[in-house]
Amino acid sequence: MTGKFLYLNADDELPKHSQAIFYLDNDRRLVFRDQRQFGVMKLVGSGDISRTKGIRELAPEPFGEEFGFDYLKSILKKSRRSLKTLLLDQTKILGLGNIYAAEALFRARINPFKTAAQLSSARIERLHQSILEVLSDAITDSSTSRINLEQPDGFSYGEAFERFWRVYEREGEPCFKCGAKIRREVHGGRSTYWCPRCQRR
Ligand SMILES: [Zn+2]
Repeated sequence: MTGKFLYLNADDELPKHSQAIFYLDNDRRLVFRDQRQFGVMKLVGSGDISRTKGIRELAPEPFGEEFGFDYLKSILKKSRRSLKTLLLDQTKILGLGNIYAAEALFRARINPFKTAAQLSSARIERLHQSILEVLSDAITDSSTSRINLEQPDGFSYGEAFERFWRVYEREGEPCFKCGAKIRREVHGGRSTYWCPRCQRR
């Protein structure tokens, strides 16, 4: 939340709330600016990263080998929570977040409020595929939030420069697939967006 990385020249003035400065080989500085001080940095040997508190509790990365269909099925089958809530749990799946969870469920044509354990194998397969597609599109699509260190104001993580979402923040707008109005509901403290027709069940 609200943290920024800035890529500064040697003679640029250091902004307020600069919490950490990395002096780079090219004489420039990578500055972590964190006004609200929510950020955490730890110095850890590369061999110890997976054992570090705050990292070791995290779930497998979606692009890692561990995150296969069987893994997703096993966590869904054990949960009485809604899919939307479960997909945001960083101890179950890492890095999906509110936007990508909504987008993956839309692509998979699955209702976000459905109980995780009730999902059929065919639909788990579809959801697994959609999660990977949504994340890989987000990484490769140049119009989405990428770290742009040359920007004068730096980069705020969690910020999207251009919107490409199919349901996220599109309440009341027509669904790209069927034309029905996209709906929004606050669920677990977060906004959930979905198409009432494409994601009926
Ligand atoms: Zn639709």
